[in-house]
Amino acid sequence: MNSTQKFDVPHSAFLGGSKRLLIGGKWQQASSGKEFGTVNPATGEVIARLAQGDATDVDRAVAAARHAFEGEWSRWTPYERQRLLMRVHDLIEKNFEELALIETLDMGAPLTRTKALKNWASQVILFYASQTGAGGTSTPHHSLPGQFSAFKLKAPVGVVGGIIPWNAPLISQWWILGPTLATGCTAVLKPAEDASLTALRVAELLQEAGMPDGVVNVVTGFGREAGSALAAHPDVDRIAFTGSTETGRKIVEASAGNMKRVQLELGGKSPDIVFADANLDIAVPGAAMAVYGNSGQICTAGTRLLVQRSIQEEFLARLEDFSSKLRVGNGLDPEVNLGPLISRKQLDRVLQYVDIGSKEGATLASGGKRLGGELGSGYFIEPTIFASVNNEMRIAREEIFGPVVSVIPFDDAEDALRIANDTDYGLAGGIWTQSVSTAHRMAQGIKAGTIWVNCYGALDPSVGFGGFKMSGYGWKGGSEHVESFLYQKAVYMNIA
Ligand code: ADP
Repeated sequence: MNSTQKFDVPHSAFLGGSKRLLIGGKWQQASSGKEFGTVNPATGEVIARLAQGDATDVDRAVAAARHAFEGEWSRWTPYERQRLLMRVHDLIEKNFEELALIETLDMGAPLTRTKALKNWASQVILFYASQTGAGGTSTPHHSLPGQFSAFKLKAPVGVVGGIIPWNAPLISQWWILGPTLATGCTAVLKPAEDASLTALRVAELLQEAGMPDGVVNVVTGFGREAGSALAAHPDVDRIAFTGSTETGRKIVEASAGNMKRVQLELGGKSPDIVFADANLDIAVPGAAMAVYGNSGQICTAGTRLLVQRSIQEEFLARLEDFSSKLRVGNGLDPEVNLGPLISRKQLDRVLQYVDIGSKEGATLASGGKRLGGELGSGYFIEPTIFASVNNEMRIAREEIFGPVVSVIPFDDAEDALRIANDTDYGLAGGIWTQSVSTAHRMAQGIKAGTIWVNCYGALDPSVGFGGFKMSGYGWKGGSEHVESFLYQKAVYMNIA
């Protein structure tokens, strides 16, 4: 079902006009003077113009970040950084309606979804605010003679290059800003060219909260210009990247010049496994939204839906019924469940995979078509189910990044594990069962960084998530994440 309901477009003074780069606390044009339009994917209309930053701007932003890193900011105590994070937290909460609106207009997700991120954003910021003391010293017991003392010091790694994806910028940016501000690092953010606006608005709020100039800089622009310059920059100490595996590989290569620390959260082809004993009342909507949420544009999406053969027919019928009731349309409409895809390019890519799946012999059980008509020229697509999928097919092996689910039958737990792990990726996995022993066995057996049992997508910033294999490396959230923004130093003293 698609939505044609009329709705009001709320107002934000931030939208419209030309946006600038934030470098050293000053909003400025790209040095080339170039700009490009950013489009609302629900309408195809340009909603703002962005400065097209390039390598020169990245150079200036990195210099500003280095200057700030060595300056006043380096003398801020953990408590001062904590207070800054608390002030930012309060400003983000206060302005969340506007941030949610900007995010919806910029990348398409329903306003009901972006507004619901308020609590999550708050938790993430509060978690990092609680971590500002992580850079302290520790004096472990040691085995050196008595006149020696040995202890560890921690120090912020320095300038962080944060390359942000378009699928969830409002949250993604906090996986970089949180640990940067908590540890006393500084950052240059490069938001995605398709959805940069919330990063710019949040940067204004950081300034309002009293962040010193240059601590966070924002360079909008294209990946091949600004992004690659940041990844290769000799004065950047650490890269945080979320995006495609293909781009992740380029970033690793570019970062080798000065041996940057790199943290990557890349693609996925996550198995979501429904056993015959699962409670289908929660498994059907849970597994469906594990793929359709954010219109399938989530790296952890459970796109390989493994369903035990004995319940295949019933499950499919219920999945089709659930899918047919989802409303696709402009995210401003409060009735809408799925917004558009981010761009024409992404729409073409997803439609191409629908074609590939059909040609490979999978059964197109429902969906698969672009939605136009009264929805106008936005990039809408129906939720799509492929049944009788074989794990060798391209639709089961390659990340599609759209609301397309591949239903793959399995016989027993061993068969499910074999299929689940037969993938280049290892980001996440889901299990739906009422058996505790099946849940444990599968949670241990699936080679992926995050496992969900009888739920999908739940995240706790103090626990975090990460990936195996080609889904990247480095943990986001939890104390490990904060540690990865710190150098550790051992100090040995002979004080006799
Ligand atoms: P997509 O192809 O779906 O846009 P990407 O992984 O390419 O996904 O994009 C994620 C982020 O990486 C964006 O901010 C993009 O600008 C940036 N990016 C793209 N190419 C490069 C590159 N070669 N080096 C650094 N960053 C890049």
